[in-house]
Amino acid sequence: MNRREFSKNSVLLGVGALTGFPKSSQARVQNESGDYYDEPAKRLPIRKFDVVVAGAGTGGVVAALAAARQGAKTMLIERKGYAGGTVTEGGTALHSFYNLWKAFPGAKKRQVVRGIASEIVDRMIAIGACSGHAEMVRGYDYDSVCTAIDTEMYKLVTMQMLDEAGVFIAVNTLLTGAIMDGKRIRGAIVESRSGREAIYAGAFVDCSAYGDLAAFAGADYKVPNDYACCNSIGLANVDLDGYVAHLEEHGGSNQLAYGIRSGEPGKVVRFNGGLGGEFSAEARKIGMSSMITTVQDNYLMFVKCNFKVPGSVINRDDMAKAELEVRKRQAKAAELFRKYVPGCKKAFIARTSPTLNIRRGRLITCDYDVTHEDVIEGRHFDDDIMAYGFHDSAPRYQIKNGGTYGIPYRALLAAGTENLFCAGMMITSDHRPHMSTRNTVACMGQGQGAGTAAALCAKKNCGSRDLRYNDLREALVKAGVYFES
Ligand SMILES: Cc1cc2nc3c(=O)[nH]c(=O)nc-3n(C[C@H](O)[C@H](O)[C@H](O)COP(=O)(O)OP(=O)(O)OC[C@H]3O[C@@H](n4cnc5c(N)ncnc54)[C@H](O)[C@@H]3O)c2cc1C
Repeated sequence: MNRREFSKNSVLLGVGALTGFPKSSQARVQNESGDYYDEPAKRLPIRKFDVVVAGAGTGGVVAALAAARQGAKTMLIERKGYAGGTVTEGGTALHSFYNLWKAFPGAKKRQVVRGIASEIVDRMIAIGACSGHAEMVRGYDYDSVCTAIDTEMYKLVTMQMLDEAGVFIAVNTLLTGAIMDGKRIRGAIVESRSGREAIYAGAFVDCSAYGDLAAFAGADYKVPNDYACCNSIGLANVDLDGYVAHLEEHGGSNQLAYGIRSGEPGKVVRFNGGLGGEFSAEARKIGMSSMITTVQDNYLMFVKCNFKVPGSVINRDDMAKAELEVRKRQAKAAELFRKYVPGCKKAFIARTSPTLNIRRGRLITCDYDVTHEDVIEGRHFDDDIMAYGFHDSAPRYQIKNGGTYGIPYRALLAAGTENLFCAGMMITSDHRPHMSTRNTVACMGQGQGAGTAAALCAKKNCGSRDLRYNDLREALVKAGVYFES
């Protein structure tokens, strides 16, 4: 892709835009002794789109691609400078494109999440930035495959795909408000170095993880704070094979998969296991888990230090304390590796996330709430938008017979709003099914459902509840989405 092609498609905000802030960016000082400052009203420039997606993360990238591919003029708003979200910052592997066939003798191996999510991974595999769908040889009652990615290349690949699809990518842009017309969102308000703007559209998708757009639009929400936060680190200069060999010698790793690593097949790409003794005792104190994936030699992609935020994950000051605490834990984690893990004497932190990663922010009330029984019984609905077969609490909870359950369209509709779809970790109230629906590949599938529906609604100028399900289903099937139970 050359420079001209790139700028033709995605008008990255800031390039050739304003040369200085308008006078309206300055406000006059008022009574300094009071407790409040009355901010003067501002005149905002309006940009118009068919679909606006908030958050270029796991679900948002796919939602924007899906909407744009339906022909919708689509804007994607992202506060960071890149796409990919928690996929690139938090986890271990992409859970999961497959059903749990290995745990159920007789169950057929099936790729149950296809469509755009699968296309992204295929592009990653093609450039050597993914382990492939590596079959688990140990720990397969948890997941039957390990699909690990190079986090930095994921940022590039997803942004390139968005650009190719003609999505207007507004990175380094914070969504700060909603303009309401009754229960209908008319516009989103954004802030960037190019100023404050009003973004109008026919349909909106909230993929911000925190449910920011839904909250601004007045949707009902809770903040369960039922998970620990984390900022996982990439640890470089480690002797992976030495570490694995040591684990094998001392009781072994209870998870193991061989896939493509540094371009070579048949290499360990996933393992799990502490060293016991002092290492494990110290690791516990900093919430460090030792489940590890990688697609590069001498590199551990995700070493996680978990921390349960006292207070609220949507409170700035609580999170500021947590950011500091987790960074201390990360430094300690690297120290423990250097001290105890064979071949890691010179290990160092090569990557951290710019902000803490949450496992749940706001829980947005939607028309339907996926239940524990829906998931483990493998239920499907008349308005499914995808099928999914992974549970992060396996083997305790698994989907019946290694099959799939469906996520219904209704589960994406923010209650009390007319044109707002939600996708990703912000849906599903019960912690148990949330341990399934919040996983990356489920969020990507939800993104495809939500983005496609938003584009169809914008095209037909109808509300989210007036869309004919058959039209949505037809579009999803055409785009390769899988629905089998
Ligand atoms: C530590 C950790 C480990 C995990 N491990 C795994 C794992 O191994 N496998 C797995 O499948 N899943 C794992 N998960 C779960 C999974 O990664 C997440 O649930 C999923 O990626 C969430 O996707 P999302 O689209 O909801 O949000 P995200 O991917 O977080 O995307 C949200 C995006 O919105 C942006 N945003 C937020 N607010 C605004 C705003 N106001 N304006 C503009 N942009 C905004 C954010 O910057 C972000 O890019 C893990 C999660 C965590 C935190």
